[in-house]
Amino acid sequence: MRTAGGFDVSRQEAGAILSIDLKALVDNWRTLQAVCGAAECGAVVKADAYGIGMEPVVQALDAAGCKTYFVAHVFEGRRLRALSRDAVIYVLNGLLPGTAPSYAQHGLRPVLGSAPEIEEWLQFTALSGARTPDGGDALPAALQIDTGMNRLGLKEVDFDAAECLTQHVNVALVLSHFSWTGHGDDDRARNQIEIFERLRARWFDVPASMANSAGVFLERGPLYDLVRPGYALYGGNPTPGRPNPMRSVVRLEARIHQIHQVAPGERVGYEGAWTAKSPRRLATISAGYADGVPHAAMGSNARAGGEALVSGRRCPFVGHVSMDLIVIDISEVANAQRGDMVELIGPTITIDELAARAGTIGYEILTHLGRRFYRRYTRL
Ligand SMILES: *Cc1c(COP(=O)(O)O)cnc(C)c1O
Repeated sequence: MRTAGGFDVSRQEAGAILSIDLKALVDNWRTLQAVCGAAECGAVVKADAYGIGMEPVVQALDAAGCKTYFVAHVFEGRRLRALSRDAVIYVLNGLLPGTAPSYAQHGLRPVLGSAPEIEEWLQFTALSGARTPDGGDALPAALQIDTGMNRLGLKEVDFDAAECLTQHVNVALVLSHFSWTGHGDDDRARNQIEIFERLRARWFDVPASMANSAGVFLERGPLYDLVRPGYALYGGNPTPGRPNPMRSVVRLEARIHQIHQVAPGERVGYEGAWTAKSPRRLATISAGYADGVPHAAMGSNARAGGEALVSGRRCPFVGHVSMDLIVIDISEVANAQRGDMVELIGPTITIDELAARAGTIGYEILTHLGRRFYRRYTRL
């Protein structure tokens, strides 16, 4: 596979190489499944599998035995269906007006989260007499319950109205979502679990799902019947502040274009945001914010930014991150040369670390990974 996004680039031409370790991805899924015990471990593959590539990811997870997937949009569900005939596919964002026929045609399950959505789904299923492809019950759907995030889902006040509607829906799953992402905010998570317990009692015999990546690692947190990790599958740390139990999946390397020496007082990049205090040796590398390295990872004299790994040594970004280039200080590296690769993301400089240095979250780093890379998928 060369690149996503319609660019056709050879390995030699590429400014940067994105390597994706599908073996590590599958190991991560197996680790999560082992942690979950009796609960089923699904996979969240929305947003092109967090920027990693839906096709290779789903092929690898399917082969490993993953059966249930979550996407955000119905068109993502269609794309997934083309890859896996038997997968159970939930569409988390729910039902947009007029999209019910697409769900039926492709065997997708909407996650319904409001009375109007439920009404539209019921009208469609009643009018079309829609059944599952094997002639079974009315098409299955999930219900989302809002336990405090105020984003999607039925609230307690909607319940009485919704309950009579949902009596006619084939509810295959009841789910809710944690609004916390694992920063030791366990009390709030427990509060959400309490609310979920109370509200899901109305569907006590329906399978339930609550945990995202961080939720899987919540101490004594209930995992219910199905868990929905995304970030941890792709190597993100689901236990911030503690060692990452997941394997690194993504490696991003960029090539050195040019090496040069600067004298004390010389400035680097747009607005001269970094000034050399002593003679330094700098390398200009071939990746920038257009490739997903955040502009906010810039390094000034006042504030350290991102780092690159060159021959095993960490080298700081100096000055602004440009659209296509970053300048790094390689003074401590003896033998770097034009054309060499430096590592921007990998097992040492993790997505979580780069994100922290840029004041963002690893999810944004992953989903913003650029399309100009030569992409290399390490198969199983
Ligand atoms: C994105 C998403 C997930 C996955 O969350 P991670 O933190 O990436 O594991 C699970 N459930 C819902 C509703 C989501 O939107």
